[in-house]
Amino acid sequence: MVRSRSGIVLVLCAPSGTGKTTLTQRLLKEFPRFAFSVSYTTRQPREGEQDGREYKFVTEEKFIRLRDEGFFAEWAEVHGNFYGTPLEDTRELLAEGRDVLFDIDVQGAAQLKGSLKQGCYVFILPPSGEELERRLRARGTDPEDTITRRLANARRELQQAHWFNAWIVNDNLDQAYDELRAAYLAATLSPMCRPDLVDELLAEWS
Ligand code: ADP
Ligand code: 5GP
Repeated sequence: MVRSRSGIVLVLCAPSGTGKTTLTQRLLKEFPRFAFSVSYTTRQPREGEQDGREYKFVTEEKFIRLRDEGFFAEWAEVHGNFYGTPLEDTRELLAEGRDVLFDIDVQGAAQLKGSLKQGCYVFILPPSGEELERRLRARGTDPEDTITRRLANARRELQQAHWFNAWIVNDNLDQAYDELRAAYLAATLSPMCRPDLVDELLAEWS
């Protein structure tokens, strides 16, 4: 007897360079039930990024028009660019029973928490400020002024970590991943994901 559950929302936040993308990709690979929420952004694509896969890349003019039309479930200005989550896409994915993974900043997570309280909100922490700086440089995708700005923002972001459901330190990648999948699997066991489970079981009770 297999009983289905509703899709859940998993929101991952971390200062840029912590390893959120690396962990996200592992989770998406292991759990095909996940859909990744593709955000809209005004940032320039990085090498290897494809429009519609990592992000929908739009002009500032278009972003502002969509924002004013109420297109986004949440939006924020992060590191000098606009980012937003399309509301309808999220609704459709959840209605299909998919679990939806959000890679968004803390301001956006706080907005989503207002409308999607039952989600699992995870904050990923770097082991230290020095290691965060090393990773941002080692990634080699951002110019120096961008790295400086992201490091300055990291402190402010960490100060918002207190209200999240789980904190994971990404020091050892394998351990951080195990903790992330544990947080996700624990969230799927919530009665809110299967509100009728006990009633169905009792109805079949002989
Ligand atoms: P984010 O998406 O949070 O900005 P990335 O996933 O792009 O971060 O990771 C930033 C850099 O740090 C990448 O070069 C990645 O390979 C590396 N990295 C990720 N996790 C670890 C870890 N646990 N130890 C060492 N390096 C890591
Ligand atoms: P990056 O430019 O490195 O891809 O992302 C920069 C920051 O923007 C990251 O913290 C990322 O999580 C955040 N971000 C990406 N998409 C969204 C979104 O739709 N909304 C919000 N609020 N933040 C986002």
